[in-house]
Amino acid sequence: MSSISISDNLQTVRAGLLAACCTAGRAPEQVALLAVSKTCSAEQVLQAARAGQHAFGENYVQEAVDKMAAVHALAPDLALEWHFIGPIQSNKTRQIAENFAWVHSVDREKIAIRLSEQRPGDLPPLNVCLQINISGEASKSGVAPSDALALAQKIAVLPGLQLRGLMAVPEASDDVFEQHVAFRQLRQLMEMMRSQGLPLDSLSMGMSADMQPAIAEGSTIVRIGTAIFGKRDYAK
Ligand SMILES: *Cc1c(COP(=O)(O)O)cnc(C)c1O
Repeated sequence: MSSISISDNLQTVRAGLLAACCTAGRAPEQVALLAVSKTCSAEQVLQAARAGQHAFGENYVQEAVDKMAAVHALAPDLALEWHFIGPIQSNKTRQIAENFAWVHSVDREKIAIRLSEQRPGDLPPLNVCLQINISGEASKSGVAPSDALALAQKIAVLPGLQLRGLMAVPEASDDVFEQHVAFRQLRQLMEMMRSQGLPLDSLSMGMSADMQPAIAEGSTIVRIGTAIFGKRDYAK
């Protein structure tokens, strides 16, 4: 896979992000690019970092923590921002609270309380998005839209956390109209919660296959893996 240039891919993704913002009449600074580096090596993360990428998303705690140490050993002066975007087991909350700047996948009060209690006092509060099961799939993680406000109000008062917004992984669809509908529902849910006094400013939505509709519907963080690092090899 050495023919893939991460730097070229990043340029293409950034150009697509810019074009989507332009089409949507949005300022490109409003949309952050999160490079999803699950299954990628520390060397690949470094290649992206050298091409100017600052924020990285990971799904598996142990893989992520090992990778952070490996990146640090290779480039001790490099300061990257790590986001946890995978399912959260309660026995992994301490490692998440100690090693990440953001968590996008909080969907239970119990997990939020542990993250808040375990966030080290010398770090700023952990930025948190609530994961919403926007397509209502039985197999998906995420809180139901109808339960989101009550959960957010409980999480907003936890001292170790800063509740920032909502995240969703809508049911995969080739239908652009359906993609728009799911992302619009997430934005409208956030607007409803803001009208209830919650100071939310982040919508984590859009992946390699649906970045454009997500940006059109108001995404502020797109989570892009395949389009930057190539097809994932889970065998490694
Ligand atoms: C893997 C993953 C991504 C990246 O998906 P791509 O299709 O490779 O861009 C984004 N968000 C979550 C939650 C993921 O697990």
